[in-house]
Amino acid sequence: MKPSLMDFTQKELIDIIQPKFRVKQIFGWMYHNYASDFEDMKNIPKSLKEELASKYVVNPLKIINKEVSSDGTIKYLLELQDGKTMEAVWLKMKDDIYEDGKLVQEAKYTICVSTQVGCKVGCSFCLTAKGGFTRDLSAGEIVAQVVTLKKDNNHKHNRKINIVYMGMGEPLDNLDNLSQAIKIFQEEEGLAIGGKRQTVSTSGLSSKIDKLGEMDLGVHIAISLHAVDDELRSELIPMNKAHNINSIIEAVKRFPIDTRKRVMFEYLVIKDKNDDLASAKKLVKLLHGIKAKVNLIYFNPYPGTPYDRPSYEDMFAFQEYLVKHGLLCTIRDSKGIDISAACGQLKEKNKK
Ligand code: SAH
Ligand code: SF4
Repeated sequence: MKPSLMDFTQKELIDIIQPKFRVKQIFGWMYHNYASDFEDMKNIPKSLKEELASKYVVNPLKIINKEVSSDGTIKYLLELQDGKTMEAVWLKMKDDIYEDGKLVQEAKYTICVSTQVGCKVGCSFCLTAKGGFTRDLSAGEIVAQVVTLKKDNNHKHNRKINIVYMGMGEPLDNLDNLSQAIKIFQEEEGLAIGGKRQTVSTSGLSSKIDKLGEMDLGVHIAISLHAVDDELRSELIPMNKAHNINSIIEAVKRFPIDTRKRVMFEYLVIKDKNDDLASAKKLVKLLHGIKAKVNLIYFNPYPGTPYDRPSYEDMFAFQEYLVKHGLLCTIRDSKGIDISAACGQLKEKNKK
């Protein structure tokens, strides 16, 4: 497997490619024109392209399946150079807005990326966990997901996009490659996606939350909390035994957060497990003193799971309780509900 040119920052590429101005051109080909191959790079000398092609690839990903939902969500199954597969999702957050026939606001999109093939954390409700852990993704394999999806949707390089690290895998369990990818996304002459447009979702590796904070990359964090007491949380997320709720809350309090922003707490709501108002009450207490926003997620069932989707009424009552007690709270609309929406489902379907 060859490394990808997308594994490197612009500065690092200058050590590999001379003269320096070629790096700028190649960066443009990769991130503005979405060139997948060296052949696509028109103004680069053949000799340089051949030399680079003997050691590197450009885009290491191939689209092997795609499911399009009626709401504009597109779920991609992507193949890596070693034949392994993982998923990335294109989410339409807002439609184009027209006034008097004129476009006044362009549609907004978010790309959900994977950071690993499989996952070590082993959450009992998560389909990705069922297949175990295969390997970390390289920085280039993370970056290439965004390039591939933008290209497939004809999304111009200078149009804004948000990234959420909520696909397969636990991002903080692959912190070196994650932080490298965050930096490459931020490159001004590349995709120019700033830290505040990137949200790292974690199941709560508290020591790594601190490490990410120390790197000061300006990214947001989202905590997959899902439970308010350690007993249930350890049942759902086995790693909670080593990184309990309290240690996560403390790490969040230390995390450098833009004063205008909030830390997102994701709460997966499972019928008769954590959908009662006593849990809502505990959640309010737990988040006291933190500038938090809660995102309630309907559990998305799949064959073989012991858990059920909560009722609309219980979900709404839970939200109402939080809002009444001063917490900002949204219910995640189940985008792509008619396709394989929950993480890991498209990959599962394509198993032969
Ligand atoms: N490993 C990280 C990021 C990837 S998981 C984390 O756990 O935060 C992305 C999100 O998908 C998590 O919030 C997780 O709770 C959610 N998820 C996993 N399985 C789900 C299911 N069956 N239904 C709904 N959401 C699910
Ligand atoms: Fe891993 Fe996140 Fe799935 Fe848990 S929910 S198994 S941490 S991908």
